[in-house]
Amino acid sequence: MVEEAFDRKAVPVATPSERPEKYYGELVFNRSTMFRYLPKSTYDALVDAIENKKPLDRHVADSVADGMRRWATENGARHYTHWFAPLTGGTAEKHDAFIEHDGKGGVIEEFSGKLLVQQEPDASSFPNGGIRNTFEARGYSAWDISSPAFILDQTLCIPTIFISYTGESLDYKTPLLKSLNAVDKAATAVARYFNPEVKHCITYLGWEQEYFLVDESLYSARPDLVLTGRTLMGHESAKNQQLEDHYFGAIPSRVEAFMLDLEIRCHRLGIPVKTRHNEVAPNQFECAPIFEEANLANDHNLLLMSVMSEVARKHNFRVLFHEKPFAGINGSGKHNNWSIGTDTGELLFGPGRTPKDNLRFITFIANVMAAVHRHNGLLKASIMSATNAHRLGANEAPPAIISIFTGSQLAAILEKLENSIDADLSDLKKRSEYSLGLAQIPEIMLDNTDRNRTSPFAFTGNRFEFRAVGSSANCASALLVLNAAVAEQLENFRAKVDAAVEAGRPLTEAIVDEVRNVIRESKAIHFDGNGYSDEWKAEAARRGLDCETSAPLIFDAYLSDSSVKMFESTGVLSRPELEARNEVKWEMYTKKIQIEARVLGDLALNHIIPVATRYQSMLVDNMVKLRDLLGDDTEGLASQDLDTIKQMSRHMSIIKSEVARMVENRKKANAITNERSKAIAYHDTVVPCMETIRYNIDKLELMVDNEMWPLPKYRELLFIR
Ligand code: ADP
Ligand code: MG
Repeated sequence: MVEEAFDRKAVPVATPSERPEKYYGELVFNRSTMFRYLPKSTYDALVDAIENKKPLDRHVADSVADGMRRWATENGARHYTHWFAPLTGGTAEKHDAFIEHDGKGGVIEEFSGKLLVQQEPDASSFPNGGIRNTFEARGYSAWDISSPAFILDQTLCIPTIFISYTGESLDYKTPLLKSLNAVDKAATAVARYFNPEVKHCITYLGWEQEYFLVDESLYSARPDLVLTGRTLMGHESAKNQQLEDHYFGAIPSRVEAFMLDLEIRCHRLGIPVKTRHNEVAPNQFECAPIFEEANLANDHNLLLMSVMSEVARKHNFRVLFHEKPFAGINGSGKHNNWSIGTDTGELLFGPGRTPKDNLRFITFIANVMAAVHRHNGLLKASIMSATNAHRLGANEAPPAIISIFTGSQLAAILEKLENSIDADLSDLKKRSEYSLGLAQIPEIMLDNTDRNRTSPFAFTGNRFEFRAVGSSANCASALLVLNAAVAEQLENFRAKVDAAVEAGRPLTEAIVDEVRNVIRESKAIHFDGNGYSDEWKAEAARRGLDCETSAPLIFDAYLSDSSVKMFESTGVLSRPELEARNEVKWEMYTKKIQIEARVLGDLALNHIIPVATRYQSMLVDNMVKLRDLLGDDTEGLASQDLDTIKQMSRHMSIIKSEVARMVENRKKANAITNERSKAIAYHDTVVPCMETIRYNIDKLELMVDNEMWPLPKYRELLFIR
């Protein structure tokens, strides 16, 4: 019944009484649908191209397009679109109807391989960091055959990459795909030391999407939420999360109805969402799927975010993906559970049953640690944004320092290996397996119990969990950096091991030697303690980890020599691309703060000050009248009112002068042409004014008559009834 309420589409409607296996994936052009709609030879050619990463022949593309159109139109689609993820975040679509002239004054529905495979969206209004500055330079979108097409809102969506006329990437998918290839190549070479059967390595991603829900009508009454996605003011509610009664608590029924609708929609789109629960903060929830191949998983996350916004509105909610919509309570992240597996079915970060498996396990773990260590500043840059900056370093979230949590068992094994000298490795089955601690590593070890919630990057049994990723982010931003860094490291590792073997060292010993070196070199990244503590900040600085907290300066890490070398050697991004992408990052940072500052200034002067003034004059009026009536008798009573009047004056005068200062600083910053310097100016001179203004408004909120306060308060926004 819930689904029916909003799904007026021609496509078959799943009802909650139907089981997921009946409708799962029905809106996806997946293998079984391909098989039904494509001629056998086309199907075989397409599967071959997908599996072996080959280009598609033009005739095959025409045949695929025809089958795809037939399937899509039978399922209610009227339009098609190339669906891609520009650097603004989110996804972009431009819909075209299938219709073509039939030559007799009418139309027929058609779809050609040419239109399926490549298009030239008029892309001049997507951010490009100066790459496409000539008028003939248009953007190209090209079909990513590894991610299946799907139907969304009566439109056939074709996942594509988005590149410039000259081939530079203008999206997240292109470098993500390149980074996945780089990992495949580098990890396969190392995995083959342990199992020569391995031909490919696959990167997996399981995201956990956190979000807030706010009642639609209250949302509409908060211009700051509508325009910036977060509350720019609002005093803490007397009750928020201190009782810890929301996390894993019973889901409110209104929210449950929304979640059920969402899940059905997701399952029809082939998104394997599985887990849902309340999060720590009031009105905060989480949704997580079964993990998938990383490129597909990321497309599914982007799709989930747009579907979720739509379904929320049908239920009179607004979904907030902002990392910090409310001050004083937890923000939202998007944990990226990340692992690498082989085509032979092994998970490379999972311990095995034999010492050999375990040496492989430690080899991959140590190399990940080394990659994260070398590029810790860059990884931080990969998750940084104007919005996530509110979350990192604040109390509930990881600090703006990247470190790795391993848990005590893995830490002990790493330590043993690091300190073992000249162990007899000629046969791992003998003594050495015990002395190196590689004999028995319990598979589920890897204790889910001593999970450390304060770590930005945690080992969790057979995968790593990158927790610093923001809830509104495109996961690819973090993944492509992580993948490229790990590919570079594995490549270096392999080169060293091969050189040692060439010089006569037996393979296993060469591997252990090099693993030991890697562990030693990257020790500084390992931290199992409390990441929120001040001691850790001091310790991290001593260890030489990147402790920068200013977002515009953190972005510099993309252009450091070691980053450029890493991106170029793995073929993931070129220097011009990196430069252009950083321009976009700085520009986006500036624009976000600029909008917030404008909204805050307007609200302060047009909403808050007038109301506070009115209330204050009521107090003054009252005092004057009391004195008239009672003479000096009221002295004691009225002095409190006088204090309130004076305090309000102080807050109001600070607000007015800070708004003036903020406007002035913005003007100065806007005059700067260099995007980096402009972003720094916004960070250093505009943001501090905003904080002062907010502080003083929140004080006024506690003084002014509740009935007069012009905006819904936190206690109303945060508790769904
Ligand atoms: P948590 O306990 O952290 O809340 P779960 O154990 O439920 O989370 O898993 C969170 C996510 O991790 C899920 O999306 C799950 O599919 C994913 N996941 C599990 N194993 C792997 C793996 N080997 N690689 C990538 N993701 C994984
Ligand atoms: Mg998790």
